[in-house]
Amino acid sequence: MKADQPVDPLAWLDAEWADWTAQGLERRLTPRRPHGRESSLLDFSSNDYLGLSDDSRVIDAAIEATRRFGTGARASALVSGWTEEHEALAADLAAFEGVETVALAPTGYAANLGAIASVVGSGDAVYVDRLNHACLMDGVRLSGAALRVVPHNDVTRLAEILTRDEGRYRRRLIAVDGVFSMDGDLAPLPKVCALAERHGAMTLVDEAHGTGLFGRGGRGAREYWDVMERVTITVGTLSKALGTLGGFVAGERRLVRYVVQRAGPLVYSTALPPACAAAARAALAIVQAEPERRIKVFALAERLRHEARRAGWVVPESLGPIVPILVGEADATMRLAQELKTKGVVVGAIRPPTVPRGTARLRVSLSARHSIEAVDRLIETLRQAAIPKIGALQEPNQRRTT
Ligand code: PMP
Repeated sequence: MKADQPVDPLAWLDAEWADWTAQGLERRLTPRRPHGRESSLLDFSSNDYLGLSDDSRVIDAAIEATRRFGTGARASALVSGWTEEHEALAADLAAFEGVETVALAPTGYAANLGAIASVVGSGDAVYVDRLNHACLMDGVRLSGAALRVVPHNDVTRLAEILTRDEGRYRRRLIAVDGVFSMDGDLAPLPKVCALAERHGAMTLVDEAHGTGLFGRGGRGAREYWDVMERVTITVGTLSKALGTLGGFVAGERRLVRYVVQRAGPLVYSTALPPACAAAARAALAIVQAEPERRIKVFALAERLRHEARRAGWVVPESLGPIVPILVGEADATMRLAQELKTKGVVVGAIRPPTVPRGTARLRVSLSARHSIEAVDRLIETLRQAAIPKIGALQEPNQRRTT
């Protein structure tokens, strides 16, 4: 290679990008309009399950904290980013979760990454469900532990792998989503906990889609299954039902204090903005004071599941506000989402690599902010839409997760 011929260091990217777009995988950023100016569009694409992201009490708490502490935390938590707002939120979350203490993280993603990478490392193993969220998988990679992938919700297989691995690893962790983000179903936590106890493994449950929704008190999948005390590490997000941004790691004091010191994504990232801590705290109070919100969103979701099936759509079994409507091919899913949009209904179109090939779907997420009329409008638009033929659907367990 001649020195005077500059080589484009990004030349490889053109072919990669061409391949990506040729597969119809390009996603675009489209600015959402501010609250109150959303014309007549009905939005079923957010994770704001309880409608708290624009609740005036939550907004006021965020504004007040911003006035007191400024817009950013200014430093990582261990340096000087930890404020009274963080302290108060951590205390409230610990009480809510029924744990000794809670660490806060800038996002739920960072919380999972940090929790996993601080409790396991090289020589250890993490058993993950194939459909776990990407950040649990990434956490295992970051940790250097062996990644042992188990078919979706297959506790028999999990038992077999745990038994076969006996004595091979130093520490073992079973990490699952409490509620699976793209399918809306729950991990069978009592069986998972029993296996962990039998094999002396730790458990980590990601409550990102459970907090505020499942269980009598809205504590998530662990409360729903009555295993609150049996889970070693609980990870949560402030960014879904709690309506703001941030994550947390909850558990025994000896665990959490270690995570706070050792988790890179917590130690080396700026603490979450005080406004987010204050907003989450206000939202958490509403979760506890207004259980009718979660009751409503569950009822709306049941109505949609029932009616969509009656209209001929494939709606897998799930519980709670995430309602997947299987379409199959990515293109057909995009066309359907576009058709709904022209009728004023916005739903998430989920394609590979977020879900495996052949399982592209609409991911409808219900919120307590929706009215029955709004859900009925969605049902009506689904009734009118042509149902694409689902191609050879892959078995859920062959799905690739990202
Ligand atoms: N876990 C699960 C199961 C999720 O779905 C998500 C967000 N999509 C996260 C963790 C990450 O949370 P956050 O958005 O707060 O980073």
